[in-house]
Amino acid sequence: MTLNQNQFRLLPSVDELLHTSQGMALAETFSHELAVSALRLSISQARDAIRAGSPCPSAESLLLTAELHLQQQFQPRLRPLINATGVIINTNLGRAPLSQASLQAVQRVAGGYSNLEYDIDLGARGSRHTHVSALLRELTGAEAALVTNNNAAAVLLGLSALAAGHEVVISRGQLVEIGGGFRVPDVMRQSGCQLVEVGTTNRTRIADYAAALTDRTAVLLSVHPSNFLITGFTESTSIASLVELAHERGLLVMDDLGSGCLLNCEQYGLSHEPTPQESLAAGADLVCFSGDKLLGGPQAGIILGKAEVVARVARHPLMRAMRIDKMTLAALEATLRHYQLGEAEIRIPIWRMISTPAEKVARRAADWAHQLTAQGLAVHTQPGQSTIGGGSLPGETLPTMLLALDAVSCSLPLETISQRLRTRHTPIITRISRDTLYLDPRTVLEEQDAEVIAALQAALA
Ligand SMILES: *Cc1c(COP(=O)(O)O)cnc(C)c1O
Repeated sequence: MTLNQNQFRLLPSVDELLHTSQGMALAETFSHELAVSALRLSISQARDAIRAGSPCPSAESLLLTAELHLQQQFQPRLRPLINATGVIINTNLGRAPLSQASLQAVQRVAGGYSNLEYDIDLGARGSRHTHVSALLRELTGAEAALVTNNNAAAVLLGLSALAAGHEVVISRGQLVEIGGGFRVPDVMRQSGCQLVEVGTTNRTRIADYAAALTDRTAVLLSVHPSNFLITGFTESTSIASLVELAHERGLLVMDDLGSGCLLNCEQYGLSHEPTPQESLAAGADLVCFSGDKLLGGPQAGIILGKAEVVARVARHPLMRAMRIDKMTLAALEATLRHYQLGEAEIRIPIWRMISTPAEKVARRAADWAHQLTAQGLAVHTQPGQSTIGGGSLPGETLPTMLLALDAVSCSLPLETISQRLRTRHTPIITRISRDTLYLDPRTVLEEQDAEVIAALQAALA
């Protein structure tokens, strides 16, 4: 008899393992069936290992392997991570983190019943839109407001309601692709309207729009080129002049702002981002934007405009297919309250990140570096740039201070370190550029500092 055969004999049965206290705990936490299949897998892996010359593992080790299998299998697929990229609004990383008040609002309505579509005063059916429409009107000066599932839905719904079967005039410079395959011309076609392109990529004048009007024209559409810049010899037409032309002919102006920034970006050293307030004041009939870009709230589409125009949109049958759900509505209302109370900059995470002065980020980066160098790790700080991202303010950056790990002073390849940080229980996403791995404290929530330090120590060990 070979040593190997002896080792096979030492392997316990599934039943024996199930009757240990850890085995019973596994069956209790998961289920009998799941515990059995995880133990079978663990034993079969041990058999392969013995065949390859390893000794038989202990019962504890077999049980632990089974437990790890189950933990991995039941780990939530959608889970939190730490964004150390310095890109504040990142669509792949879930766009805007919600404020504490927004989280609490979701919690309050999600676990029970609510007055989602119930008018408490009348004791009768109500509308889900009323919970935020007054707030949105107050904050933007709009006559009426409506909310959808996201801004893509808002654009599709707006065009379907106002222009199906008619012509929509748009500048060639605004036929943009937002990302994830969302292309303005495709959405226009889906809404059943006919696209009429005017002007050129870099220059479109009001006369170009005027020359394109026919008796089939319904809407002049403006789309904010929110994720790219055309610089140099450019000219675009203001909302005010589109409105003047459109209203002379009994037509409507719709403005897709993309980001929908309610605050004045210039106060943070960024360039001007058109606000819904300005667009409405210039006379736009319908304005739409995202809830989770520069508004800093949940995924949603906000539609603002003239009462009669918004009412037409609200009556469209697609409204039902694109409606917002109660958790989003709760988070959106709480986010809008921060603007009403004038506390957006301190309570809304993305605005807190945007408004943090570079010196304050630098103090955090220096603190991280100090703690890591004290452990003998070769890191340093380096000035850099954070970006807004998420199809907002293209080319705009905020000065920041990065924590940097140079490839030359690391005993491990940077790709290995970045992978270790990425594959931990709470992943940390970093950026590698020109043989240096960077972490930007600006996008790391302050309560995550200690975890980032500990993870870097572990990854570099
Ligand atoms: C981001 C964006 C959209 C899509 O908004 P979602 O909320 O992601 O659906 C539409 N139009 C513009 C101009 C955008 O920037």
